[in-house]
Amino acid sequence: MAPRLRLLATGGTIAGASTSATQYVGYRPAVTAVDELLAAVPALTEVAAITGEQLAQVASQDMTGAVRLALAQRINALLTADNCDGVIVTHGTNTLEETAWFLNLTVRSRKPVVLVGAMRPANALSADGPMNLFRAAVVAASEHATGRGVMVVMNDRIIGARDLHKADTMTVDAFTSPLFGLMGLVSDRRAHFYRGGLRRHTADSAFDVSGLQSLPRVHVAYGHEDDDRTAIDAFVAAGAEGIVHAGAGTASVSQRVKPAILDAVARGVVVVRAPRGAHGLVVRGMEFDDAAHGTVAGDTLSPPKARVLLQLALTHTRDPGAVQALFDTH
Ligand code: ASP
Repeated sequence: MAPRLRLLATGGTIAGASTSATQYVGYRPAVTAVDELLAAVPALTEVAAITGEQLAQVASQDMTGAVRLALAQRINALLTADNCDGVIVTHGTNTLEETAWFLNLTVRSRKPVVLVGAMRPANALSADGPMNLFRAAVVAASEHATGRGVMVVMNDRIIGARDLHKADTMTVDAFTSPLFGLMGLVSDRRAHFYRGGLRRHTADSAFDVSGLQSLPRVHVAYGHEDDDRTAIDAFVAAGAEGIVHAGAGTASVSQRVKPAILDAVARGVVVVRAPRGAHGLVVRGMEFDDAAHGTVAGDTLSPPKARVLLQLALTHTRDPGAVQALFDTH
């Protein structure tokens, strides 16, 4: 029997429309309905039995924690049932990294979950969406896709959610995995896997969002020359439970901002350090005494991904040591 897959559509450029086949600037994202996305790729029926569902219809810069929670809860409900072998999610590329990472931490199943988007609107010349969607179905239908965590398929590549990085604003070659490489590649109707993630994910993750209605408020403050405490103080005043400080280089903190971080920690706000541009490991004590200051080192996560993990960590604890343990293992 062909694998039975469910496609959850959320919008983005893969569901986008432009006024001409050569227009990229000024196209409208999130207008094509899920049934049209499926109908545009008749060959999908040759790899799986796929049914669609419109979960949202947004440009992904408008994605919210509430929609992400609804998505995770819906996927968990679908994958618990015997009649669903895997899920595909269509999504805008702008925040694909965060949603894939969130699902990697909150889907409680080993069945395949594959996210896919497009850089060109659906009616553009050489639109990449239809082939990306076909490739995503090939991966979700693969017998080798089980237990690898949430995957993203773009431009013939399979990239693990933890490693995914959007590196280009416009080209179809927009997604990379700068530190740890690809999980695999897709050719025609075959998914070729070369590795899987070792950090805790999906069925082995610490997080269960089944009863959650909302996520804790967490903001990102950006470190730069002449920065000061304005942003961090404002976030604390607005009720932030967590703050990610996106610092230069090793996620460093200027002497100007440090007092604001210490005050935030003293008020029970959990502060995580993540690198603002470089890719690499941020360990405890690197140019900042995390142990003495009660802060958390963000491991290899980018600021937006550190924000997602901190939101989930705050559903368990506000103890910086316990939050650090979650960052060390996920
Ligand atoms: N604005 C679009 C989005 O929803 C861009 C894209 O999908 O590539 O993220």
